[in-house]
Amino acid sequence: MRRKNKIASADWNQFRRLMVYLRPHLGRLIIAMIAIVIGSVLSLAGPYTLQFLIDAVFTQNNAPLLNQITVVLIIIFALQAVFYFIRAYQLQFIGERVMIDLRLNLFQHLQKLSLSFYNERRTGELVSRATNDVSTVRSLVTSDISTAITQVITFFGALILILITDWHLTLFMLALVPLVVIVAILFGRRLRKISSAVQDQLADATTVLEEAIGGVRVVQSFTREDYEIGRYRGSIERTFALALKRIKLSATFGPVASFMGFAVVIAVFWFGGQQVLNGSLTAGQLTMFLILTLTIAGSIGSFSGLWTSLQEALGATKRIFEIIDTPSDITDRVDAKPLPRIVGHVVLDNVSFAYKDNSDQHVLRGVSLEVKPGEVLALVGPSGAGKTTLVNLIPRFFDPQTGGVCIDGQDIRSVQVKSLREQIGLVPQDTLLFGGTVRENILYGKLDAMEAELTAAARAANAHDFITQLSGGYETVVGERGVKLSGGQRQRIAIARAILKDPRILLLDEATSSLDSESEGLVQEALDRLMQGRTSVVIAHRLSTVHHADRIAVLEQGQLVELGTHAELIAHDGLYARLYKLQFKDNGATVAAPVIEEPVEAKPKPRSRSLIPGLIG
Ligand code: ADP
Ligand code: MG
Repeated sequence: MRRKNKIASADWNQFRRLMVYLRPHLGRLIIAMIAIVIGSVLSLAGPYTLQFLIDAVFTQNNAPLLNQITVVLIIIFALQAVFYFIRAYQLQFIGERVMIDLRLNLFQHLQKLSLSFYNERRTGELVSRATNDVSTVRSLVTSDISTAITQVITFFGALILILITDWHLTLFMLALVPLVVIVAILFGRRLRKISSAVQDQLADATTVLEEAIGGVRVVQSFTREDYEIGRYRGSIERTFALALKRIKLSATFGPVASFMGFAVVIAVFWFGGQQVLNGSLTAGQLTMFLILTLTIAGSIGSFSGLWTSLQEALGATKRIFEIIDTPSDITDRVDAKPLPRIVGHVVLDNVSFAYKDNSDQHVLRGVSLEVKPGEVLALVGPSGAGKTTLVNLIPRFFDPQTGGVCIDGQDIRSVQVKSLREQIGLVPQDTLLFGGTVRENILYGKLDAMEAELTAAARAANAHDFITQLSGGYETVVGERGVKLSGGQRQRIAIARAILKDPRILLLDEATSSLDSESEGLVQEALDRLMQGRTSVVIAHRLSTVHHADRIAVLEQGQLVELGTHAELIAHDGLYARLYKLQFKDNGATVAAPVIEEPVEAKPKPRSRSLIPGLIG
């Protein structure tokens, strides 16, 4: 019993959180409440007045009274309709508003949560919380609350009216009602359990749906359509199996409950009929009694349904606030100051880092590294060495467990994240474009850029020419995630975006490695322009593209193993020299590659330039 109470108070707290969302609508809420109360009272006044109508006809033969009562009844029902309208309109208005505010808050918070949060969550699950769960909460506001109030008023109101009329009959009726109550509660409890299982399973199916739609290209290229269909079918069929359980239960529940309701009414009629026969009750009173007994049975029935939907709403509320309450592990300190415009001096001091879910396995171990303002530092090393991880520490996507990152002498944990990230440009291997137009995608780098700035950036990114050749020019819609563009075109748009942003520090994470050699030339040239005058950390898969960096840092299993210029590292004859020779040999073995890929240290630029006339225009 104690434990139950505890759960209830914790649950109550969840609902209290919702009050914050209701507060702005207090006026409407009060109007709705008044309408609910008046409406409920009127719904009792109907049967109450009806008894006089019946007695006027059957007992008193009073024609003028019949007319008067008819008018009164019509007025009562008309008023009831008016108040019903007020209640429905106000509550639904509030419900929609609360839903929108919740969604917005949830989204705002989701946008702030750090990457480590997203590492552990599936998109489908998050989307389901922002849609399904929020809708469930809306029904709490629009129907559950008003049902609860209405039923409480009608239940007790009806009870008082019949007690006054005939307390013998009332006691008789009440002896039967608990039976209905117990059955209803048992059913309701079971129904609730199954309903939440259905909900969970549905969320699971939605996740499969999302993944298969989002990754449809991969699915089709592996011709795994049938596999995905099977996966989805499995998931959705499990939903069906659970839903079937729920259907069976609720299909049984309805008839059983209504049978018991009618049985109670008939029994009351039998008992009350005897009272009428011996003259202690009028026909009108018995009629009212029967109607109010139905009202009471209906109240009890809807209480158990109400209980179920309250539980559902509670589950949904919990899931929503669970996310809203998740703190971001990357936040501004209270005393964080904006980072002033930087020159771009990056220092990593003895940095060690492990991902959360694998906290004993350090991905970076004691890395110390300095990148001077304007320097181009290439970061190379085998796949999985920790290069991407290292680069992600600079815009503070993650915080290292030990050591720190300083920019222009300031620990980045002591400055405002926004001001830090505003001065860093990141071009990843596969740029995500948003589904809008080319223009919108480039302007993402600087929302208020002038037209001239926009085209200048596009030109510098070697993108202007291909954009103007697109059917809609800058207004071309690029398709979801930019699917209508080639990889090289997407990268050049990403570069134009970065040029507009004009960051002091530039991070390129294998920005050219998914491209063919031709578009790589164009992209590389654009990147070279972008890097000019900025501190740049460049991760490159193909070593031929990094050997003219100012310095090269070699990472192996999370440790910095070599650091120096291309010539120094070749002379050192360590890991870099080995990797370099390996790639050089590979390239030499193919027919076309040497011309493009051969690392000619003295003239890297002409190599890419020579490609341009043939490709642009
Ligand atoms: P690189 O870019 O050099 O190929 P990464 O920095 O991507 O290497 O990865 C380094 C190591 O960290 C790998 O062992 C990888 O499995 C692990 N890793 C990368 N990203 C995550 C992540 N989000 N969560 C957990 N482990 C990760
Ligand atoms: Mg990587």
